[in-house]
Amino acid sequence: MEKKNIDWENLGFSYMETEKRYVSHFKDGAWDEGALTGDATVALNECAGVLQYAQTIFEGLKAYTTEDGRTVTFRPDLNAARMADSAVRLEMPVFPEKRFVEAVVQTVAANRAYVPPFGSGATLYIRPYMFGTNPVIGVKPADEFQFRVFTTPVGPYFKGGVKPLTICVSDFDRAAPHGTGHIKAGLNYAMSLYAIQTAHRNGFDENMYLDAATRTKVEETGGANFLFVTKDGKVVTPKSDSILPSITRRSLVYVAKECLGMEVEEREVLFEEVKDFAECGLCGTAAVISPVGKVVDHGKEICFPSGMSDMGPVTKRLYETLTGIQMGKLEAPEGWIVEI
Ligand SMILES: *Cc1c(COP(=O)(O)O)cnc(C)c1O
Repeated sequence: MEKKNIDWENLGFSYMETEKRYVSHFKDGAWDEGALTGDATVALNECAGVLQYAQTIFEGLKAYTTEDGRTVTFRPDLNAARMADSAVRLEMPVFPEKRFVEAVVQTVAANRAYVPPFGSGATLYIRPYMFGTNPVIGVKPADEFQFRVFTTPVGPYFKGGVKPLTICVSDFDRAAPHGTGHIKAGLNYAMSLYAIQTAHRNGFDENMYLDAATRTKVEETGGANFLFVTKDGKVVTPKSDSILPSITRRSLVYVAKECLGMEVEEREVLFEEVKDFAECGLCGTAAVISPVGKVVDHGKEICFPSGMSDMGPVTKRLYETLTGIQMGKLEAPEGWIVEI
């Protein structure tokens, strides 16, 4: 298929309407068969559950072109499983996991002309999501829902080179113990907007959230999990019931252990320890890993030895191995790459 004439290298991370999206409706206790549509507009009753009580969940993954010209996505089965967990926690019907992957594949196939070419650094971002559609005024779950998938091309994350981030320890909490921090729900983002805008107003790129109960343990940022590297080269990643289980982080942990033979610890990480780490990175679909150069705790600076101009050596090795697997340069573990 002829690619669209888009300046791929200079795309940012913003919404661009593409040709097709997938829609399935849940009504009378069942999902309909679902279909692609050209209509990007959602029409809803003014009292829809999503509008009144924020009953909505989402996922995020990417499609891209490998070195040998295939169009692929990365581990969509894990997005399907995570969305099922999110649905259960918000009293929404599960969209069957096999159908989730099929919907992603169908939507990407229908928008193949928008999948950026290999080497551009750009990708086709895929957004599956689900929300309550019928009128709900007394507080209760909706009983009609839409599951949708749209795609939008996004530019290279490290445009103009890698720039390590400066992040601040937030005075706000992202997630309560026994709350919804471990699911991908719009509500977690709605309440983080004030915190991220505050961080930006104060000159920081991101927030480091600590655990809400004791404010002594590292949780995550608004949209990415932490990965630390100790001075003796061990990978350490925070374990907590209130962080979102990043698929990128889980893949990096696997790669570190199984492909690179590194030692990995998934455990509680005290904020006290952060000053002793050699490297720090943020893991998520968008960047794979963004290096953190500096953490600021109310004026007190922690500067990682990896510095403010490049990724640290271990972070870089993990980054290159995982992106090598994604781009088809290195052999992928069974089932990681799904061809469109
Ligand atoms: C989506 C998300 C991540 C990253 O998860 P990936 O599956 O790696 O994209 C991390 N933290 C939060 C809060 C998220 O919503």
